[in-house]
Amino acid sequence: MPRRPTSDRDCSRALWLLGLSAPVTADELTAAYRARISQAHPDRHVGSAERSEAANTLTRALNDARATVAEWIGSGRDWPVAAAHAVNGSSRPASRPPRPAEPAGPAPVCRRTGLRAGDLVRVWPYDGDARAVAGTVFASRYAPAWVVLEDGSEVPAERVRLASFACPVCGICAGPPVEHPTLRPCPECLVDLRRLERHAAEAGRVRSAIEARAQAGMATAEGLGDARMAERARDRRGWARRLRSAPPDDLHAALISAFTNAFDRWAA
Ligand SMILES: [Zn+2]
Repeated sequence: MPRRPTSDRDCSRALWLLGLSAPVTADELTAAYRARISQAHPDRHVGSAERSEAANTLTRALNDARATVAEWIGSGRDWPVAAAHAVNGSSRPASRPPRPAEPAGPAPVCRRTGLRAGDLVRVWPYDGDARAVAGTVFASRYAPAWVVLEDGSEVPAERVRLASFACPVCGICAGPPVEHPTLRPCPECLVDLRRLERHAAEAGRVRSAIEARAQAGMATAEGLGDARMAERARDRRGWARRLRSAPPDDLHAALISAFTNAFDRWAA
């Protein structure tokens, strides 16, 4: 049984994890739990330590979910109103649950991959169509992350690249061309932000990297024939170049401010 009082949110999450929609009977709960747990069984994933660990994590999450829903059934409380959940986190259903209602706001950003549901990506060798991300999954802080695509397939995160986006900080961008490319910090800028928050002395190196990414962004945008992306990248290159002669403290402050503004606007 859960240690703390079960909230509507706990119950919604548990239902989602089990692929159930309220109201649920005890029999439906048992059937859903058995179906999920058979797919998650660690014996099915003996070929890979990471997958096996992920299966163990999922098994624990399913056990908790079953206890939560069983408690809810027993309590006779009103069922929570359906809510949307991103797949970010340490566990996910073994197969995709029914699509939840439209989320009220943007999906959370995965701290491991910098991705969030709805992002467009290309899968190695990065020449196919852009595909939408449903979420990310990883067994532990140090296990490799996997990206779950909207069709339910899973790909190691290192085989996935952001697609059809432009970074408002460094101007780097990627195709394929779409009508509304995502405007979001690139993964390198997210890493640089974290690094700068810890080590102010990195500011000079980060500035050079931004200038190089802006230059690459201009070339990419021109190759894609996207004038707005090219203009943004040119603007960011100019900004990075103007910071070349800034005193270290000013440089650090300017970079942190640009990163956090872009991050806040995107993640808000
Ligand atoms: Zn960037």
